[in-house]
Amino acid sequence: MTVRATKRGAERTSLDGTRVDVLICGASFAGLAAARELAGSGAEVLLLDRYAIGERQTSACACPRPWMEEMGVEASIRQELPFMSFTTPHGTARYRLPWTWSAFDYRELCDLLWAQCDGVRFETATVAGPAERDPHGDLAVPTDRGVVRAPLVLDALGWRRVLAGSGVQPPAAPLTRALEVHPPHDGTGDALDLWIERPTVRRGYAWRVPAGREARIGVASYDPSEHVRAPVGEHVARLGGEPVGFQGNWVPHRLRAAVEDGVFFAGDSAGHCFPLSAEGIRTAFYFGCAAGRQLRSVVEGHVERDAALAAYAAFSARHARAFRVAAALQRLIPALPPRVLTRVLRVIGRQWLVDRSFGWYLRQAHPAGLPQRDSRLAA
Ligand SMILES: Cc1cc2nc3c(=O)[nH]c(=O)nc-3n(C[C@H](O)[C@H](O)[C@H](O)COP(=O)(O)OP(=O)(O)OC[C@H]3O[C@@H](n4cnc5c(N)ncnc54)[C@H](O)[C@@H]3O)c2cc1C
Repeated sequence: MTVRATKRGAERTSLDGTRVDVLICGASFAGLAAARELAGSGAEVLLLDRYAIGERQTSACACPRPWMEEMGVEASIRQELPFMSFTTPHGTARYRLPWTWSAFDYRELCDLLWAQCDGVRFETATVAGPAERDPHGDLAVPTDRGVVRAPLVLDALGWRRVLAGSGVQPPAAPLTRALEVHPPHDGTGDALDLWIERPTVRRGYAWRVPAGREARIGVASYDPSEHVRAPVGEHVARLGGEPVGFQGNWVPHRLRAAVEDGVFFAGDSAGHCFPLSAEGIRTAFYFGCAAGRQLRSVVEGHVERDAALAAYAAFSARHARAFRVAAALQRLIPALPPRVLTRVLRVIGRQWLVDRSFGWYLRQAHPAGLPQRDSRLAA
C-alpha cells in the first residue's frame, strides 16, 4: 500500500471533476491521524500531499511515548529518551521525566500510519489556494492537477494554512523559525538535550535529539526575523558533528481558528503546536484524530456537517488556556537573566516538581483527552 515516489509525467492524470465524501489535504502527522479515523468507514476519502507519503521529514521526530502507543507506531522508534537536560551559560539541569520521549524514523512512522488507513485513496498534488463553496454546497479545492470537490475538507497542510482565505505570511506572522541537521550518531545517550543560551539564539533554544544512527541537532528562534542557519552550524560544530542533512521550516506559535469557511484545520495549520517547546507532533495527532472522528460521524450520517464543525471548533478552543500558558512562558523565559533562569531550572528539577509540571504538560494533549470514537460526537 505504501506509495514511494511522487507521481510524475503521465502518472499525473487530471483530478479535475473528482468528487469525494472527504478530502484530507496534507499527509503528515495531522492528515494521516485524521485519515486513520476514517479507515473502513465506506466513505470515499481522498488524501492529498505534494510529496509521497513519508518522503519529506518535517521535524526532529521526538514524541511522547504514550502517543506512539496510541497511534500503534512503536516499531518506528529509534531511541527512547527518559531524560531531558537544560543547559544555560551557567550550568546544566537534568530531569527524569514521568514519561519518555521517543525519537522515531519519519518515513517508517508515516508508513505505519498509512497502513492503518484502509480504504483511503492517496494522490500527490499541490494544493494551490483557498477552498471555495460551489452552488451545490461542496467545497472546491484547487490543486495543480485540477479542482477536487468534497462536502467535507480538512486542511492538514502545515503552517501556511493554505485553504484559509486568511493565510499566514512570514516573517510578520506569529511563527518560530526552526532548522536542524542530521549527522551520524552512535546510538548512545538517554536525554533530549536543550540549550538556552543567548549567544546561540537570542530568543529560542538549541537541541540535540539522539535517534539511533543519526542525531537531530538544531536551533529554533521565536523571532521569525532571526536567521538560524549560522547558529545551527556553530552549534553542531561545538557538539562535534557534521552539518549534513539540513531540514527546516516555520512553526506556528499561536492558536488559530480550527474551523474557517466550512473547512476543518488540524495540526500546524490551526496553530496546534505548543509555542514554548515548538512541539507539534502529538498535538497534530491529537487534533487530527479529533477532526477525523467528527468527519466520520458525519459520513456515517449521525450528525450534520455544521454541527460537527462547531463541535470540533469548540474542542480546539477548550485547549486555548494551555497554549496561552505556553505563549506566556515563551515570552518570559528568554527575558529572564541567565543566572536566574539557571536557578529556576534547578529548583524545578526536584523530582516531584518535574513529575507535576511534565505530567501537566502531557495532559494538555493526551490520548485520554480525545473525544470517544462515538458515532454521535456532535449530537
Ligand atoms: C526543524 C524542526 C524540528 C521539529 N522538531 C519537533 C519535534 O521533535 N517534536 C515535535 O513534536 N515537533 C517538532 N517540530 C514541529 C512539528 O514538526 C510540527 O508541529 C508538525 O510537523 C506539524 O504536523 P502537521 O501534520 O500539522 O504539518 P506538517 O508535518 O508540516 O505536514 C504538512 C504536510 O502538508 C504537505 N503540504 C504542505 N503544503 C502543501 C501544498 N500546498 N499542497 C500539498 N501538500 C502540501 C507537506 O508536504 C506535509 O506532508 C519541529 C519543527 C521543525 C521545523
